[in-house]
Amino acid sequence: MRGYGGRILHVDVTSGVSRVEPVTEAMAQSLLGGNGFAVRLLLDVVPAGVDAYDPANAVVFAVGPITDTTVPGNSRACVASKSPLTGLFFDSTFGGRFPATMKRTGFDAIVITGCSSQPVYLRITEDGAELRPARSLWGQTIRETVQAIQSTEGTDVDVMAIGPAGEHLVRFAAMGTYWKNREGFAGRGGIAAVLGSKRVKAVTVAGSRKTQLADAALLKALLDERREPLMTGTKALSTYGTPFLVKPINTLGALGSYNLRQETFADALAISGEEMRAHYHSRDTTCLKCPVACGKQYEIRDGELEGLQAKMPEYETIFAFGSMLGNAHAGSLTRANDLCDLLGMDTITMGVTLAFACEALERGWLSEQDVGMPFAWGDWKGMLRLIEMTARREGFGNRLADGAWRLAESLHPEATRVVYAVKRLEMPAHSARALKGMSIGYATASRGGSHHDTRPTPQYAQGYDRKSPDGKPEFAVRSQHFTAVDDSLVVCRFTSERGFGLYVEEPYARMVRAVSGFDMSVEELEQVGERVINLERLFNVREGVRRKDDVLPWRVMHEPIPEGPSAGMHCPPEELSMMLDRYYALRGWDGDGVPRADRLRHLGL
Ligand code: SF4
Repeated sequence: MRGYGGRILHVDVTSGVSRVEPVTEAMAQSLLGGNGFAVRLLLDVVPAGVDAYDPANAVVFAVGPITDTTVPGNSRACVASKSPLTGLFFDSTFGGRFPATMKRTGFDAIVITGCSSQPVYLRITEDGAELRPARSLWGQTIRETVQAIQSTEGTDVDVMAIGPAGEHLVRFAAMGTYWKNREGFAGRGGIAAVLGSKRVKAVTVAGSRKTQLADAALLKALLDERREPLMTGTKALSTYGTPFLVKPINTLGALGSYNLRQETFADALAISGEEMRAHYHSRDTTCLKCPVACGKQYEIRDGELEGLQAKMPEYETIFAFGSMLGNAHAGSLTRANDLCDLLGMDTITMGVTLAFACEALERGWLSEQDVGMPFAWGDWKGMLRLIEMTARREGFGNRLADGAWRLAESLHPEATRVVYAVKRLEMPAHSARALKGMSIGYATASRGGSHHDTRPTPQYAQGYDRKSPDGKPEFAVRSQHFTAVDDSLVVCRFTSERGFGLYVEEPYARMVRAVSGFDMSVEELEQVGERVINLERLFNVREGVRRKDDVLPWRVMHEPIPEGPSAGMHCPPEELSMMLDRYYALRGWDGDGVPRADRLRHLGL
């Protein structure tokens, strides 16, 4: 098949036995790859109701037909599992060079189950899988692990590793890969902790298979046509990276601050992309074959953190460790991000959990003795210390390591009211109150509080009515189909949105035709997105998710934004309920949010 390696590798790390399953054309046409393959495989392999740390849970790495082609942003892969944070389906995508190298092994998906008796790393080549001992790597940071494995396997081998947080089963542990031009992190949902529970320290890939294109000329024509919009649309990303968003979103009154008690941050300028570029920028970095180079390396040149050289904190990280914690010390954001990358933790969950802890201290639900140190808004040194303690579950870090929701449940009957999370996933920096499309989007997202299910990008555009609930269920449905298709192809969100369109549109159908030869209409491609969303929902319904779970944080539903340009906005329960009715009707789900049999049949499920 053009565009595919055509094989799925299943590895049981308990026995070390692996087997290969072919990718059928029917599977490729109905699910594309990446996200689509991952959810299908998880539904088939993972028994209902098992704990995320049960050996029967699986971690699936998957690439798509676009991976390792010439499409900008093609070096992208998806990793998925049952999340230890949400207990539900979870997928996370990442870049760097690993995804392209994985495609060159000829395996479109790698399914890892079981539990090894000893720490191991998994070596994947075109010939299959091999387990190698990793006892000496246990306890090392992600960067140390990548370097150590490459020093024996060679630098052509790409390594995705977990850090101490994954080993200690931190429920939001992240995994990462380093390559000289760009690192990649699959941050959210704690999938690295699932690898840790299996005692898999790393997955390595090496191969040389080329992705065959169905129509190279058609692909070239598409890329030529889209080059100019892509380069124009990504200019701010190329210059500043995602931190360019800090200023405009604060100006909109939608930058969550002080655990969402405000949505403007008085010191936003100090932590903006413009300011940080001026002080810290040292070089640009980019994923394999991407002309955008949205990655930046920073160097702190003064103050207490002088000499620190590290990756730029992304916009989400600036929100989580900056405005949400009332912290305007820009250098500390780079250090916090670096610590999370090295130790292997999701920055959004870490920061939002600390913001909850700050408010809990203020309200008297936590004491200084509980935390083991004083901690308050703007205390960046305390923040850095608590990050390190969390990764190794030391002291109060052991409680932070379970995320904000579980911590709140252990403190006070009303404490979950001030947790900024949906389905126990802490939320990112695109306001659930100031963007009505995000209100319904977050409530219905398979992952919970994720901005990669329903997209905020179209809602920031001039002329978009972000304040009215009208049409927002329709918007969320379309946007979710787009992200499902995008993550199944798999393409970087930044290049796809800015180069090829914000929804499933004609350029994507042409892309699929050129790479795989599948002659799909836009409607058929949209239906792939719908199929993937329904599979995700079926996974979650199997775990007990119903309408009662499609809710927003209490604060979002009951406390209007108190100040700034979005003052007064929130999403009351009646409004959410009205949007949910419409959303379920559009999806062909019943009133409790369960997919109806006729709709599933229509989708071939
Ligand atoms: S836009 Fe940024 S994240 Fe996306 S592929 Fe290019 S460098 Fe990587």
